[in-house]
Amino acid sequence: MRPFVEKLHLTGGTLNRRAVDVLQVNMGRYCNLACIHCHVESGPTRKEMMSRENVEAVLSFLARTEIPTLDVTGGAPELHPDFDYLVVAVRRLGSHVMDRCNLTVIFEPGKDYLPEFFKHHRVELVCSLPCYSQENVDKQRGKGTFDASIRALQVLNQIGYGQLDSGLILNLVYNPVEPHLPPPQEKLEQDYKRILREQFGIVFNHLFCLSNMPITRYATHLKLRGEYELYVELLETNFNAATLGQVMCRNLISVGWDGMIYDCDFNQMLDLPMTDDDGKALNILSLSIDEVLHRSIRVGNHCYACTAGAGSSCGGALV
Ligand code: SF4
Ligand code: SF4
Repeated sequence: MRPFVEKLHLTGGTLNRRAVDVLQVNMGRYCNLACIHCHVESGPTRKEMMSRENVEAVLSFLARTEIPTLDVTGGAPELHPDFDYLVVAVRRLGSHVMDRCNLTVIFEPGKDYLPEFFKHHRVELVCSLPCYSQENVDKQRGKGTFDASIRALQVLNQIGYGQLDSGLILNLVYNPVEPHLPPPQEKLEQDYKRILREQFGIVFNHLFCLSNMPITRYATHLKLRGEYELYVELLETNFNAATLGQVMCRNLISVGWDGMIYDCDFNQMLDLPMTDDDGKALNILSLSIDEVLHRSIRVGNHCYACTAGAGSSCGGALV
């Protein structure tokens, strides 16, 4: 395989951050699910959680910058004891909040208030639903997940999420069950909309198509099935230089549960923190926006997953 950094040089240089439009915060690794493709390796046995001190540091950083959007992720961020506190405080600051929600979390004990909470605070929901078929979703996310996800979507629709002109945004996330590139996003969105409406009466705003990142748990899964090399080769073969201008690390920074700063969630999982000019890892406790703007991004072979085909980001296809 040609190292990604060489490929990047062939296309004309390095990747730099041009802005910080999104502050993505990983509140911890605890999750009620344990999906095969999870690059965070989340699950019910994980204990890592962001401290209140770091939650306050996130708020303080947002308050002294003009970053318009907080993107909350995990694990299942809603299961963090400070999730509500963070959302309420960020909305008071006037920033938009996106929550990466696994849908089933609203049926966890004591969490049935979440749909109304989301609505009250106009939280944009980005919800994983890797297929419209029960078999594929349960295979990737665990038995019963599909039914629970459908019920959750119906609850959200009932209170206005995904409904025309409600302003309550409900986006879904697709990622392939098998080691393939995602199909064209626009066409798949049409299929999702038709099938979910016909079979379950569900509506939503947009579908984001994401490639699976061949790191951590998903890499282990592929290696066990003897599919790792083929998948990585597929990503490299489909490298598309046109995606480089849009990859999410160019306008986002990621904060780990422990306060460390990364170019993206994937670099976080690979323990590749952003460092200052002296090589010291940056931390939310003392971060200034100038330290992250225009800084070059730490790339590696995993970046092929963001740049293959139509590209892949937290917001779906790139080109
Ligand atoms: S729901 Fe999300 S965070 Fe939880 S295990 Fe699945 S992919 Fe990971
Ligand atoms: S994995 Fe993707 S988002 Fe992260 S640094 Fe590489 S290209 Fe950027």
